[in-house]
Formats: sequence, structure tokens, C-alpha cells
Amino acid sequence: MVKTQELSVKTKGNCDVVNITEQIGAAVTLSGISAGTITLFNVGSTAGITTTEYEPGLANYDLKAAFEKIAPESARYEHEETWHDDNGHSHVRASLLGPSLVVPIVDGRLTLGTWQQIILIDFDTRPRTRTVVCQMVGDPDR
Ligand code: ZN
Repeated sequence: MVKTQELSVKTKGNCDVVNITEQIGAAVTLSGISAGTITLFNVGSTAGITTTEYEPGLANYDLKAAFEKIAPESARYEHEETWHDDNGHSHVRASLLGPSLVVPIVDGRLTLGTWQQIILIDFDTRPRTRTVVCQMVGDPDR
């Protein structure tokens, strides 16, 4: 069977790292799917989804520092010349991270590691409310 849910995620923008593991786990429980996969997809081109060990060093500093090296905020972007906005770096970072993640569901649970959390990173330059589409495909029986 296929079950689809949408999550609404408020962010502060500017590389805000939001831990969405609990909501995703709740969506899996609500779906009743015991064996299958969940696909998470951020709607929009300035945020991405991945996993990390969610602790203050990584969440508040290290990931931001890495993205600043890869696509610096102060660099010149053709996107900004064309559209007269300020988020060329946001788009480049989001494209490199990717908008989606697939996690296997086994025995009705996400197969995450002990410290592995699902995060949404919002690269835009202002607070946003993000929509994450959660689509679960699988079997209710084991
Ligand atoms: Zn833009």
C-alpha cells in the first residue's frame, strides 16, 4: 500500500538545521506500514534533507561552515544578477545536498542508527515554513 502525508516545518533560514526525526517516526507509525520504505521530499529549491548526529557542534556550526566553504554567501551568483535577489548560495547548497531521502522501514520502525537523526537544512535567507512530503510504500504485515 501507499500512504502519503505532508509535514509542515518552520525554519529560521540561513542554514537552520531542523531535526524532523520524531515527526517522520510518527508518520510511519500512523501509516501502519511494517515493511517498506519512506521517501521524504522537501518541496522547494532552497532547502534539503539528510541525516546527521544531531548535536550542537554539527547542527549549529560544522555543517554551516562546510556549506560556507562550498558555496560562500558573499560570492557572486548569476542567479542574483538575473532575479535581483540574495539567495544564489541557498540554491547551490540545496542542489548539492538534494531535496530527498529514502529510509527503509523494518518492523514498523525507521532503520536509523543510534545517533542518526533526519534533518532538514534550510539554506534560504529568511524564515520559511517548509512542506515535506512523506510517502510510504510497503506492506502492513511482516
Ligand atoms: Zn533566488
